[in-house]
Amino acid sequence: MKREDVETLLAEYDFEDFRWIAPEDIAIRQWVRFMCVESCPGYGKKAVCPPNVPAIEECERFFSEYNAAILIRFEMNAHHRDDDPEVFKDIDQRLLKLEERLFYEGHQKAIVFPATICYRCDDCPGRRDLCRHKESARPTPEALGVDLFETVKKVGYPLKIVKDMEETMNRYALLMVD
Ligand code: SF4
Repeated sequence: MKREDVETLLAEYDFEDFRWIAPEDIAIRQWVRFMCVESCPGYGKKAVCPPNVPAIEECERFFSEYNAAILIRFEMNAHHRDDDPEVFKDIDQRLLKLEERLFYEGHQKAIVFPATICYRCDDCPGRRDLCRHKESARPTPEALGVDLFETVKKVGYPLKIVKDMEETMNRYALLMVD
């Protein structure tokens, strides 16, 4: 499948704002994992977040096995991040459908990592083996050690920390294609 065909599929699922990125430009950094472990109040609470994810070395190996990836950008008010899962539900469903289409079009390695933590259950058991939707619940790029600040800059996308919850923020999903 050519890049143009992949892009046609992206458009079909209403993803217009995306950029191709070389997998070697995806920065996997230990500091990102340290922040999850040492400073995130949600550590251990989600079955798709650390410590329920592979070690950084395994993540590096995983990303190195790909030849093509796409960053998909979403712009939204910062407060939507935590208190309005509906905002992400539709996005996640379209991302998963896109992944499935790519798989059936011959991209057997296609996998998507969403722009936000999993919203599916109110009472997440916090363990991957007990996850209720393993087929669709995925870690975010950050949970896999991706330094999004460094990574999105490489393709000219913006990312900054917002102080005011009414500010617009950028969030990114990562689609590994080939
Ligand atoms: S699907 Fe449910 S159990 Fe699995 S990670 Fe998401 S919230 Fe947790």
